[in-house]
Amino acid sequence: MDYLFEKVKENIYVLAVWDSEWKSYNNCYFIVNDEGVTLIDSGKKVHAIYLEKALNELGKSLEDVNLFLATHGHEDHVEGSAILKHAKKFLHSNDNDLLEQLDKMQFSNDLKANEVVQEFDYELVGYHTSGSVVFYHRPSKIIFTGDFLCFFGDPLSKEGLVSEGHDLRYEWAKYLRDGGVPKDHLESFLDGLKLINQFDNSVMCTGHGGVLVGDIQDFISELIKVGEVSKIK
Ligand SMILES: [Zn+2]
Ligand SMILES: [Zn+2]
Repeated sequence: MDYLFEKVKENIYVLAVWDSEWKSYNNCYFIVNDEGVTLIDSGKKVHAIYLEKALNELGKSLEDVNLFLATHGHEDHVEGSAILKHAKKFLHSNDNDLLEQLDKMQFSNDLKANEVVQEFDYELVGYHTSGSVVFYHRPSKIIFTGDFLCFFGDPLSKEGLVSEGHDLRYEWAKYLRDGGVPKDHLESFLDGLKLINQFDNSVMCTGHGGVLVGDIQDFISELIKVGEVSKIK
């Protein structure tokens, strides 16, 4: 099995491609609406074929993608977007320098543009990369966290790709407790978590692996608590 393609919510789908090189699932998200398709993160260039497969499963094609939002500038989130010829593409300016293989001119840094703000709020969380943002999709109450908060290299939850993921939640708290986030980054990480928790999140869509449903605020609050304790240790 090299990819999973599942519904997250009405008109919203996750594509999780197994990256045998990095030993992780790389996630992309499709939001289908009347005007076309919004894609959040694109996977690596070598995995772009799966974007097309997923769109075909939805009865759509690459031409239908009219908006592309990158949570940050790493190759596994932006490179696949090169095959999108009709999409307006957005990335935070702090990550422009990460676009090694891509034409910077293809990307707008204006995250306050109409195409973005009509359905999304965003926050610069500045941990993982300096241009890492989280996107909150207001109509679906979904938070897209990119790699700021993800399950890179982790197995999927025993409960499934889209699930409450109790095992994943537990492991993340443990990772944080064990010093997974370096001390000098902890403050900005915790600030980012607080920014996430200001939204009324029903689902957390991450850059890699599990998609969490259920009480997201509870999970984020737990991480904040664990992080605050680690800070003073
Ligand atoms: Zn990354
Ligand atoms: Zn990544």
